Formats: sequence, C-alpha cells, structure tokens
Amino acid sequence: MFKKILIANRGEIALRIIRTCKELGIPTVAVYSEIDRDSLHVVFADEAVCIGPAPSNQSYLKVSSILSAAQITGADAIHPGYGFLAENADFSEICAESNIKFIGPSPDSIRKMGDKAFAKETMKKVGVPVVPGSAGVVHDVEEAKKIAAEIGYPVMMKASAGGGGKGMRIVWEESEIEKAFQTAGNEAGAAFNNADLYLEKYIENPRHIEIQVLCDTHGNFYQYGERDCSIQRRHQKLIEESPSPFITDEVRKKMGEAALLGVRSVNYEGAGTIEFLVDKHQNFYFIEMNTRIQVEHPVTEMVRNFDLVKNQILIAAGHPIEDKPLDPRGHAIEFRINAEDPEHNFRPSPGRIEYLHFPGGFGVRIDSHVYNDYVIPPNYDSLIAKMIVWGTDRRHAIRRAKRALEEFKIEGVKTTIPFHMKVLENEKFIEGDFDTSFIDKHININ
Ligand code: ADP
Repeated sequence: MFKKILIANRGEIALRIIRTCKELGIPTVAVYSEIDRDSLHVVFADEAVCIGPAPSNQSYLKVSSILSAAQITGADAIHPGYGFLAENADFSEICAESNIKFIGPSPDSIRKMGDKAFAKETMKKVGVPVVPGSAGVVHDVEEAKKIAAEIGYPVMMKASAGGGGKGMRIVWEESEIEKAFQTAGNEAGAAFNNADLYLEKYIENPRHIEIQVLCDTHGNFYQYGERDCSIQRRHQKLIEESPSPFITDEVRKKMGEAALLGVRSVNYEGAGTIEFLVDKHQNFYFIEMNTRIQVEHPVTEMVRNFDLVKNQILIAAGHPIEDKPLDPRGHAIEFRINAEDPEHNFRPSPGRIEYLHFPGGFGVRIDSHVYNDYVIPPNYDSLIAKMIVWGTDRRHAIRRAKRALEEFKIEGVKTTIPFHMKVLENEKFIEGDFDTSFIDKHININ
C-alpha cells in the first residue's frame, strides 16, 4: 500500500479523499493556494503545503509545484480528484517518470478516452452506438458545413477537450454555423487551452444517463449501474439519481454491457464513467468518457453500499477490486448546492457564510468543505456542498430530500437550495418524467 497520498485538489473532493485515506490508515498531504489557507482539507490532512497564489494556473494546475510538494513530503501517490489535473495525460506521465503513482488511468488511456472525438471512434469500433457526427476534429467552417449537411440539422458544435458544458453551441441551420464555430472555438480555447471542435447530431430532449465502471490490473472489469443526470442547467448537472426512473431493465443491461465493451477494448485501469444520451425511444448513444472520479459518484456509493474512492486507491496500488457489483438497494438522489443566485441567472455568489446548519438523520449524507464563517473564494467553481439522500424507493427519497432541504440553512450567500425545493415540488419531476430540457420548460425561479 502507499506510504503517503498527496491530494492535488481542493474543496469537497479533497476532503472526500482524505476521509477514505484516514480509514485506510494512509497519511495524507494537502496542497493549497494562498486563498485556501483556512480550508478544511488543509485542516484535516496530516500535512499541508502551500503551492502558490489563488489563480488555478499558479497553484492547483501548476505541475512543478505539486510535484515538489510530493517530493518534499515523501508522498508516493497523487490523487487528482476531479477537474484541475485529473484528466491531464501529461501530468499522469510526469508522475510516473517521477516515481509517483497517479491514482487514475495510464497516460495512454487518458489520451485515448479523455479526448472526446477519439473516444467516440474507439466505442464505434467495438460496436457501441455513438451520436452521429464528424469522424474527429473539424478544421474549418467549410468542413463543418459539409458534415452538418450530411448528418442533418440541428447539430451541435462541441469542444474536443470539453467539460462543464463549455464550448458547446446548438446550430439549427447553415447560416448559424460560422458564428457558432467562432464562439465555441473561442470559449474552448479560453477554458481548455485547446480550441479543437467536433460536430455532432443534436439529439432533441435527451436523457443523460451514465454508467460507473471500475477496472483493475487483475483482469476485472465491472460496471455498477447507472446514474440519471438529466436535470441540468446550461448542460451542467444539478441533480443526479440512481436508478434512472426512465430506462427499462433491458436497456439498463445493454448500456452496462456497452460500457464494459469500451473499457475492455482500451484495457482501462481505475474508475471511470461512460456517458450516454438516451432518446425518447430508449435508444442510447455514447457521448464521452470521464477518466476520473465524478462529482456525482456518491449516488452510486449509496445504492451499492461501498466506497468507490477506496477501490480506486486499491486498484492504483495493484490490488484487485474489493467490492464486486452486487444488486442495488433503494434509491439515491444527489443535489448540488452551489453558491449561486438562482434568481439572477445562477450568477456566482461568493463571500462569507454567516450562518450554516447542515441537515442530518437517517439516509442523508453531506459532502462539503464549508463551515460557519468560511469565506467562499471567487476563484474556483461554486460547488459548496453535495446533499445525497437515500430512500427505500424514489418516492421515499424525494420525501426525505424535502425534509432535509428544509433543515439546510445557509445565510450570507445565495445558493441553489430554493431551486432544488421547486424541483422537488414539480409533478413531472415527482413522476420521473423529465429530460435535459426540464429546467427551461418547468422551473421558473423568479
Ligand atoms: P461536458 O464534457 O462539457 O459535460 P458532454 O459531452 O458530457 O459535455 O455533454 C454535456 C451535456 O450537454 C449532456 O448531458 C447533454 O445535456 C448536452 N449534450 C451534449 N451533446 C449533445 C448532443 N449531441 N445532443 C443534445 N444534447 C447534447
């Protein structure tokens, strides 16, 4: 087992990883930017190293500082969490060269599956349906027009290196292509330092349903069922649940098998998520793979009753997966509590938390790094807590979520809690009748 794990991240996920390390008896090193000095991951790790000023590119993205921190403290493994360097193949490679185990897939797997256009080709080769689109990167407007005409409008311009819904544009007709190509390219360039775009058929009103996988170096490839992440705003997930209230058992099984075909074909190692769009006829199409732990992983942990991060660490240390897939139990729903103002177009609402009370009780889990008097910095994403509820069935989970959100008190900053309350009262949501257009169509927060 590892002697010491450095967590190259911040916020709730850094704390989440530290918790598992403690349970495994592995000492931890936190890294932090100057503005995160008073963060909980710094308090709860065994050691902490300041790696630079607040801007991510001078701290959480700064490979040389993170590696120095690992070397100074004698860490022999790095857990990247999600975001920042988690899907950076070069980082994974530099770790290996420095004799530090990157807790995640090999650089080769990240390059193959982390690149969206490449991953689609990989899945297509093994017979998994993918959203029709360009065979790879689209180089100019003329090429985009040609491909769009072939697949038929509407189409979507998407960033090859995309994430968080950035660098994405729906194009309804040819006259809009040029502008979409430019704006999506600029956005992708600014966000990911990579302006490459590809083109996809726009699936109208799909569900977003994804499969959790774990693969070890002993030939075990397992899938742990689905998460339905269709409740989104601007293509960003806000609520995730398992099981999906939409798909049949037959489709569920087929999606699981498709996910495993993909990871086997690249000899994948570690935790990963295979994402699909599902149309109203329950046809599913692969869109991308996330080669890391995801924000919504606790949903799977709650219905499968095991620790995904623990298994990630075991796999990286060369052990076989400990928790094989068992039948799921009950229903889990995760609510992302963001410091955002839903009444003002979800604009970020950083600042001091003047009063905080977390809900509790049976079947309620809170993953959060914030506390009374904590100052939410403006520099990073606005996720401040995840509330995950478990119930014996979906109705029970919804009732429990309502009572827990009523107990959830945050003063000083605006949050997405009132938005979640509205969703929980919506008949369509209660019936499980929703797709990715749900918020636009049904939730009016003002
Ligand atoms: P990101 O990596 O930025 O999260 P994804 O490819 O995972 O991007 O897509 C995010 C969301 O955008 C999906 O869940 C879905 O709501 C929407 N989306 C992506 N591709 C399409 C498509 N071809 N048709 C319709 N919606 C799409």
